[in-house]
Amino acid sequence: MHLETEKPETPPIKLTSPTFVGREMDADTTVGATNFLEKSNVPLPPELPKSPEQLQQLDAMRDALAEFGKDLGIDLTQRLPSNEKIHFINPKVMDQYREDQGMPKTIAGHTRFDNELIVSTEYGPAVTAVTTSHEMVHSVAHFTHQPKVVESGAARLEIARSGYHVHKTGALRFINETVTEAMSREIMKDYWPRFPELKELSKGHLFVVDEQLPLMEAVVNEVAEKSGKQSNEIWHDLYRGALTGDMTPLVRLSSHLTHDQFKTLTHSTETLGGAQEINELAQKLKLSHYVMQDVAPPK
Ligand SMILES: [Zn+2]
Repeated sequence: MHLETEKPETPPIKLTSPTFVGREMDADTTVGATNFLEKSNVPLPPELPKSPEQLQQLDAMRDALAEFGKDLGIDLTQRLPSNEKIHFINPKVMDQYREDQGMPKTIAGHTRFDNELIVSTEYGPAVTAVTTSHEMVHSVAHFTHQPKVVESGAARLEIARSGYHVHKTGALRFINETVTEAMSREIMKDYWPRFPELKELSKGHLFVVDEQLPLMEAVVNEVAEKSGKQSNEIWHDLYRGALTGDMTPLVRLSSHLTHDQFKTLTHSTETLGGAQEINELAQKLKLSHYVMQDVAPPK
């Protein structure tokens, strides 16, 4: 007898809130993780006030992100960044902040070690929306911290891993950034249009070019061809790993790439590279699915 049973629904993986806030402490203090859960002394830059419209948009962005997580089988509701965690920064202040933090001029957004989101408004609403979405994905992704002893002998809390990115060595940064951007674009494309507040902003991903993503898309397409899986399946597997901290999606990915390909990808730091750097990286990786990008002539 064949008994028709309903497939039991897998309960979603519930991710807890990473409310880590760091402070400097003496190196000889016994370092327990809870010691760090105190006030940060890394000042936040002064931010722009949020308009009622922006507050509604941020609410909808959180809802969209939670729906996206739910569809992946992950409960992100405890991780969603509150309005107080999201800081819109004007161009002048952003320039100063980048200088203070030693960041390149091309950085439009940044998720700090204390999970505060810095979003520059200097490139207009479309880029601001794309940046906010990207940083929100970073902020709900896997996060671990480690103490770093600084010159004065004090120890400071710093990021050990965010998503796949191992901060100390820079390993997996390219993969993490492109997987983050892919998630962000899928959310903007498929989830934002469900919210009237975000309909217009959801078009942002159409106008804002990301030079890095085509390379990772070519990698995923190559792995799809070799594994007989759908590209979507591979992306979703990669998304889950970045959100939960599980590295096995990368192990699965690497099993369909040559040792040299995966090594090059792992150590690639071309996250700030333009089309030319990405074209060169693609050639090095011998990716059959990659379409060369136009390189803008030097100004
Ligand atoms: Zn990023």
